[in-house]
Amino acid sequence: MAYAKMKPCPYCENADLDVYTYDSGWRHVECTTSCGYLGPGEGNIRQAIRSHNDIRDERRAEYLEAMRKKDAGRRALDQGGGEP
Ligand SMILES: [Zn+2]
Repeated sequence: MAYAKMKPCPYCENADLDVYTYDSGWRHVECTTSCGYLGPGEGNIRQAIRSHNDIRDERRAEYLEAMRKKDAGRRALDQGGGEP
């Protein structure tokens, strides 16, 4: 059975992620680099991947929104001109 494709790491954009099962029985999507990303714990692999993908989408949207605001702020300053 094929699982949903995992989206890249929300922290470092690494596309090489694995699902690990912890002693507690929870399954987590984990980044294979040293960035420290650990996805939400779920009872099965399919759900762990789904939750990870949701988080990735949320963080990506937040990041893009922050960038957009930053750009808007920079433009406002540019238009403000120099010293009075
Ligand atoms: Zn990562």
